[in-house]
Amino acid sequence: MTKEWVVIATERAKRPEQVVVHRPAKPTVSFSENCPFCPGHESQTPPEILRLRDGDGWKARVVPNKFSALSPECKPERTIRRSLRSIVGFGVHDVIIETPNHSMDMALMPDAHVADILRIYKTRYDQLSLDPRIAQVTIFKNYGADAGTSLEHPHSQLIATPVISHQVRQRFQEALRHYDDFGCCIFCQMIEEELQEQKRVVLASEHFAAVELFASPSPFFTHIYPRRHMASFGDISAKEISDLGRVLRTLLAKLYYGLENPDFNFTIRTAPAECVGVRYFHWYLSVIPRLTRTAGFELGSGMFINSVIPEAAAEFLRNVKVETAVGAS
Ligand SMILES: [Zn+2]
Ligand SMILES: [Zn+2]
Repeated sequence: MTKEWVVIATERAKRPEQVVVHRPAKPTVSFSENCPFCPGHESQTPPEILRLRDGDGWKARVVPNKFSALSPECKPERTIRRSLRSIVGFGVHDVIIETPNHSMDMALMPDAHVADILRIYKTRYDQLSLDPRIAQVTIFKNYGADAGTSLEHPHSQLIATPVISHQVRQRFQEALRHYDDFGCCIFCQMIEEELQEQKRVVLASEHFAAVELFASPSPFFTHIYPRRHMASFGDISAKEISDLGRVLRTLLAKLYYGLENPDFNFTIRTAPAECVGVRYFHWYLSVIPRLTRTAGFELGSGMFINSVIPEAAAEFLRNVKVETAVGAS
């Protein structure tokens, strides 16, 4: 859900494939001597929080971020001096090392392995949401330099903070306003309308729908919505998490093959711990390929220009054939 104004530049609209950023292919190596996340280098990370075992080895690990800006050791004490407010840098910053294989991109993993990674997210989300010092848990992945990472080994991150951001508050207030005005969850309503209309649907499974955002702020900005109403990612069931593994992997594979392995971010937008179970908010996962850059107009106006029509992007992705157990309706 977004309340931003977006300029869909139909006059100079590009075909979806015209936004591809051509990069030299990355060398594929399953192990790198210099990588702290590769097997055998476990002592180079801070002590492990969680491990998904695989015989004597591991399938995935969770470790604290060595370079975290936030510390779990301090107390989240606030200071208010005149109009200036601050809070001590309390927080938790996990790195989820998704696979022992240095070059195994998520788009190419088995669906079941992606579901395993999502289960790890949920385990940590549940644990941290119970901590009374924590207000918001943000789970995200930065893939590629344009998405904010230079570390190649497949990984994602989780940051838990003692405050709720302005952006999340605003999203909640808009959702609450819609619920008060119309008596229903805006997301449930939107998902139903999108599935009826089909124009922006990339793929849909028993439990999820991947949809190009109406008037999306950037090309191929995709949301994966659970079809059942759930405010919090922590409410996802075992069946749903397996299904999400399939849907997310399929979407990433379509981006990988259709747009030449683009840099991207994904993030799970979920209710803060204090809002678990509310009827007006509905969690979802945003996948944002980084094909264009934010420039002066966006920074100055808070509005976005998108040169790829979302309906064309959806059609393009529907037509990218990948091996999948998930259909288009
Ligand atoms: Zn590695
Ligand atoms: Zn809903």
